[in-house]
Amino acid sequence: MKPTGILFFPAFDWSLGETHPEREERLLYTQEQLLEEGILDLPNIRQYSPGLAPLAEVLRTQGIFPSPHAHELDAHLIAAGSALVLGEAWAKGEIRNGFALVRPPGHHAGATVLGNRGFCTLNNEGILVNFLRAHYGVKKIAIIDTDVHHGNGTQDIFYHDPNVLFISLHQDGRTLYPGSGFPHEKGGPNAWGQTLNIPLPPGTGDEGFQYILETWILPKIQEFSPDLIINSAGQDNHFTDPLASMNVTAQGYAKITDMLKPDLAVLEGGYSIEGALPYVNLAILLALAGEDFSNVRETEQLRRPHIPLKTLKSYGFELTYEYKHTQPQWTVRNELHLPAGEWVFIPHSIYYDTDGFQEIRHDRVRRCQNCGGTVYIETQRSLEKKKYALVRIPFQACPECAQAGYDLWDYLIGRYQAVLLQDQLTNRTEFWHIDQGVTTY
Ligand SMILES: [Zn+2]
Ligand SMILES: [Zn+2]
Repeated sequence: MKPTGILFFPAFDWSLGETHPEREERLLYTQEQLLEEGILDLPNIRQYSPGLAPLAEVLRTQGIFPSPHAHELDAHLIAAGSALVLGEAWAKGEIRNGFALVRPPGHHAGATVLGNRGFCTLNNEGILVNFLRAHYGVKKIAIIDTDVHHGNGTQDIFYHDPNVLFISLHQDGRTLYPGSGFPHEKGGPNAWGQTLNIPLPPGTGDEGFQYILETWILPKIQEFSPDLIINSAGQDNHFTDPLASMNVTAQGYAKITDMLKPDLAVLEGGYSIEGALPYVNLAILLALAGEDFSNVRETEQLRRPHIPLKTLKSYGFELTYEYKHTQPQWTVRNELHLPAGEWVFIPHSIYYDTDGFQEIRHDRVRRCQNCGGTVYIETQRSLEKKKYALVRIPFQACPECAQAGYDLWDYLIGRYQAVLLQDQLTNRTEFWHIDQGVTTY
């Protein structure tokens, strides 16, 4: 049997502050635990070294404004690059699955980046998915986000993508950052139903997660039949986590992993540095490697009872009802400067909690039955006049959408501070900036 790949990038010199949950020693205890258990000596574990993500790979997926060089990206580029190293090992058939134990995390970073939010600047899984599509021809991908927080950034990146199924199960957004992730968020007009959000009540434990997986998530994945399954493996559902209020154990995480059988897992959050991370990471790794995980136990005992399964079942019933009966509500706007076709207009704003400002976004997507549709996003910081734009021609774009994308790109240059063309169809990424002109990545 092929080995399980493991890659460790603890970013010991990157943090958001000495007392911040996302700080240097976050993975220290995990590293010690794995060494102590002799995990790296197992014949079915293969360790890989971190890598650096090229900017071309980042910009294929995320528009970074005013320019990539305006942000401190070093640690983020290595976290993302490390996911690419493992992804490549998987695509080449060297490993049967893999776990990238990296920080900083990425799942709150979306299609546009104006700063850091939810500790994230670059979306490691998003960059990984599009890397594997561009270079290895992977077509259908399912991403299952098991972090306690809604994977709003990943949802944003793939919201219009019919070939990516994004599923996030998380603590209900009415009780936790970032406040989104409800069943009515089901995907854009060309990818309706390809986003599935399952907000769970605080106190949901192992049994509850297994129930949701069995009844809802696994059938959905099976129906989609992906070529690749990625797990955004956040560990802040653990009962000792200081940021959230869920009740999952290390055993629970191992079972989730065993049931999902992800090809690639990428670490997201998890801030119980001593009480959870060493045990949860070990349990996930053993489950991936097909080893016995039944003896992995955290030192602390559960502090409160799980939410009874009966309660969760009726809650799940309500969610299913809401999901099934949500009707799409699109605003079609005929704007003179847009190329031919029907363009759906979706305005929204996003709060950057780490950096403390609001991003105002105006998204437009070309409705299309033959492809994911060209996407045009206009963005700015609120209270600032400078605006930026992104044009995305999707993988497997139809000729009309591709042409619409090129026409838009030509038209938009000179009208913004910067414009990014993400031509995923022909693997071309171009960035125009008012002072620097066009750079090809
Ligand atoms: Zn989290
Ligand atoms: Zn099209």
